[in-house]
Amino acid sequence: MNALAPLVQSGAIPIDGCGSAPIVQERGQREVFCGLTGIVWLHRKIQDAFFLVVGSRTCAHLIQSAAGVMIFAEPRFATAILDERDLAGIADIDDELDRVVGRLLERRPDIKLLFLVGSCPSEVIKIDLKRAAARQSRNYAPRVRILSYSGSGIETTFTQGEDACLASLVPTLPGEAANAPHSLLVVGALADVVEDQFARLFDELGIAPARFLPMRRAADLPPVGPNTSYLLAQPFLGDTARALEERGAQRIAANFPLGEEGTTNWLRAAAQAFGVSDAHFDKATAPARARARQGVERHRATLAGKSIFLFPDSQLELPLARFVSRELSMRLIEVGTPYLHRQHMAPELDLLPDGVRITEGQHVDNQLDRCRAARPDLTVCGLGLANPLEAEGLATKWSIELLFTPVQGYEQAGDLAELFARPLTRRARLEV
Ligand code: SF4
Repeated sequence: MNALAPLVQSGAIPIDGCGSAPIVQERGQREVFCGLTGIVWLHRKIQDAFFLVVGSRTCAHLIQSAAGVMIFAEPRFATAILDERDLAGIADIDDELDRVVGRLLERRPDIKLLFLVGSCPSEVIKIDLKRAAARQSRNYAPRVRILSYSGSGIETTFTQGEDACLASLVPTLPGEAANAPHSLLVVGALADVVEDQFARLFDELGIAPARFLPMRRAADLPPVGPNTSYLLAQPFLGDTARALEERGAQRIAANFPLGEEGTTNWLRAAAQAFGVSDAHFDKATAPARARARQGVERHRATLAGKSIFLFPDSQLELPLARFVSRELSMRLIEVGTPYLHRQHMAPELDLLPDGVRITEGQHVDNQLDRCRAARPDLTVCGLGLANPLEAEGLATKWSIELLFTPVQGYEQAGDLAELFARPLTRRARLEV
């Protein structure tokens, strides 16, 4: 199920990064989930959307096992499995796909937005899903909007699925009305509870209108245009950001809202873009900041001074490294990221301690060797690496948990710290 890309080129090439941090480029075998994984959190977010993976049995197993907890819910994702008949080219794939979509929409009149999600098998790659989505959209308009994107492991790592999904939505957003006021668009899937907290904070700050992408209902597409300033809530949305800028929106550069400091910097960047005074900002955020600091403080004794090694997986690694080093005094050994968007990450790179090893890309064997040699107190990595490292006596944290758990914002800062503390306390208990 893991997408194992071919060995492209081994070795590491240091290049200059933003700020003073040198960034080492690594090329080799990768060990990450594919972009289909994003469906697991996206299907919960847009409540009347449906994700139809066009793929193989492997794809079906991946999302079923990753989303197993949702088994009793009304399913909002499925896999159209291409069987051998299709693969032999006997059936016309376009007709087959139209038939599957027709059957699905007939059975599920609640679906208002359907994503056709591409995958790896060569027969799927040959299908022009974009054209199929446009054709079907015409057939089912205006009842259902049909879009497509790729979640293939050849093209995407696991958080890039969300980027591809949101980027496919951007061209469908309505334009701003003439003379539209300056508006804020928060971009990136957040748990509803977190989104509600941020909406309240923007309201208290006097930042309005403040909207969110993805939206909760398919019909509530936020308008976009030159009076829109957008603020990324997730660090893996390079394509979505580009698509928004093509529509005239402007990015607010900021840290990501992880931890008390990250959340404050993120909100402050928005406040400054909307002319909110420092005094009002401080007054509106002070109680929540104090709660966040308290929440984090509870886990300091467990984590301060402990060493941590982050494998490249979710693209959350740089903001997480900033959080654990600055708010929990953990010692960074290595921070890997599958891709590094230098502009979006500049505020994070600026806050990392000098001399930390930052890598972009992956050569999994070399990274494992370095991790084993360093024997960190905590290793953040994908599921595939966690078990072997645990068996070797290393404490691990699954990076995917950081995506599935609400961790952004002030009220969640303590929970985020706890996610790092839990493997260490569990291990300490076992040792006792
Ligand atoms: Fe595997 Fe590719 Fe399907 Fe992902 S999209 S589950 S990597 S076959």
